[in-house]
Amino acid sequence: MNPERFSLSESDGHLYRNDNWSAPLRKNVMKWHPQIRTVAELKATIRAADRAFGGTDLVMFTDDGGTLCSECVKKELSRIMDAIRDKSSNGWRVTSASMDNDLDPCSCDNCDAVIVPDPDDAETDGGYDGSDDFIDSDPWRGGPEGDMYG
Ligand SMILES: [Zn+2]
Repeated sequence: MNPERFSLSESDGHLYRNDNWSAPLRKNVMKWHPQIRTVAELKATIRAADRAFGGTDLVMFTDDGGTLCSECVKKELSRIMDAIRDKSSNGWRVTSASMDNDLDPCSCDNCDAVIVPDPDDAETDGGYDGSDDFIDSDPWRGGPEGDMYG
């Protein structure tokens, strides 16, 4: 495809010829599909995610309830496309997509990468702990209220 003759519209996701913006050459080349039924929808959704959502990551879900991070989607794209085309139940058939900022805490079922960290885990695993500094300060120097020795 010659990029000087064709343009992908950011607003409607259609592909246009630069000399004819009145009618799209191909429709929905880049379009977000929350439900994915075809390889074309898969590709359009990945393109839309790459282009339109800065700072967030694509997350895809398979028909058996698996969650795939964007890295695995890209790495395993040919398997995913085959599974969608064949309506396979081998675990790679992606049926829906989301962005990570829309999701509850989850991780990738393929590579175990944390997609959305669980805020509760972060707290119990050692959130802010400023007590060491306090203990290390001179315990014999009374504070302003310094009547702890009676
Ligand atoms: Zn992954």
